[in-house]
Amino acid sequence: MTSLYRKYRPVNFDLVFGQNHITKTLQNQIRDSNISHAYLFTGVRGTGKTSVAKIFARAINCENEELKPCNVCESCVSILANRSANVIEIDAASNNGVDNIRDIKEEVKYPPATGKYKVYIIDEVHMLSIGAFNAMLKTLEEPPSYVIFILATTDPNKVPATIHSRVQRFDFRRIAAEVLAENIRDYTLKENINITDDALMYIAKLGDGSARDTLSILDKAASVNRELDLKSLQEILGNIDNGIIESLAESILLKDTKNIIDTIEHINSLGKDYISLVQDLIAHFRNLLVKSISDNDKHSAVLIYCLEELIILSQTIKNEKYPRLFVEVYCIKLALRDEAYKASPLDNKETSQRDNIGASKKQPLEEQTPKKPALKNWREALNKQEPTTPIEPIQSGLTEEQVSDLENKINANIEWR
Ligand SMILES: [Zn+2]
Repeated sequence: MTSLYRKYRPVNFDLVFGQNHITKTLQNQIRDSNISHAYLFTGVRGTGKTSVAKIFARAINCENEELKPCNVCESCVSILANRSANVIEIDAASNNGVDNIRDIKEEVKYPPATGKYKVYIIDEVHMLSIGAFNAMLKTLEEPPSYVIFILATTDPNKVPATIHSRVQRFDFRRIAAEVLAENIRDYTLKENINITDDALMYIAKLGDGSARDTLSILDKAASVNRELDLKSLQEILGNIDNGIIESLAESILLKDTKNIIDTIEHINSLGKDYISLVQDLIAHFRNLLVKSISDNDKHSAVLIYCLEELIILSQTIKNEKYPRLFVEVYCIKLALRDEAYKASPLDNKETSQRDNIGASKKQPLEEQTPKKPALKNWREALNKQEPTTPIEPIQSGLTEEQVSDLENKINANIEWR
């Protein structure tokens, strides 16, 4: 099934919401024959940068209309179908080298076979290497009259000043929750999704200014139930959350770093707040620890290590501008716990408080790093591993005082649900 975000990607200027200041200016430029040869579109993901770039590319090549694309002529249709030679989309995240830019410099020498303009849309342009930026400067300054560059970025501060001075910049705003809710209401009617106003507003707020994220949350909720009020919505999202938390915890325990990165990417697309994510993760690990202690199994030390690090993380990200980065780094650190232990400068400090908790820091928690187990269940997988040095059960590793100290630390950091 096509995602709502793809299905309702705006195909004309008046369908882009929240960015009138940009769409109006672009249309005025077309009307006055005053279009620039290079633009920089900035803004968080899902605010319409690429959509507007493509609408603009169709408008200036359209055979029927002047100020907007007709979306039915051969030029418009071929651009819509991504088969036009006049619109070249490049993802700078994967094509960031000097050679990629040299290819563009070669190509721009040839005028378009049909239509008026060749439009190069370079997405995530801040990912280009310095060499690639330098190679681009001359072309950007004096491209042939039939070439237009539209550079898009979520991180304009990483784009060199030499590029900024050669482009016309448009800042795409985060879309206000009210505007998102109002516009997405139309889609819910077309899709027969029955959603109350407060539930829709709740989704729009979670979307945090991004149409893509908002629609992706709506997509998820509507795939479970097409009758949504605030209560049922929160339940559904809560269940989705639990599934994600379990998956993230399992990836950490199974040392599946790729899945950690994928899961965090998914969490990001749902617009989940990272501080509450870490709290949920702490609560989940705490439940696993309680079960581990009551089962008297050998996983308590690993779980305590994870809990300790997550508690530090919960403190660290409170004032961080880029919480996602910290969450990723900490989760990967937990997954790579054997390496972290070996490299830890705390290894030889007898006074380290953390040495007192759980297994000795001088030994890796799990001596062997086996290949990724094919088992889904982490407990089964961990049981299959035969550590050369068995991890002592919690009862002998911690004094009562230390257990209560740890519990206090956990309780101080999370609100129980
Ligand atoms: Zn057209």
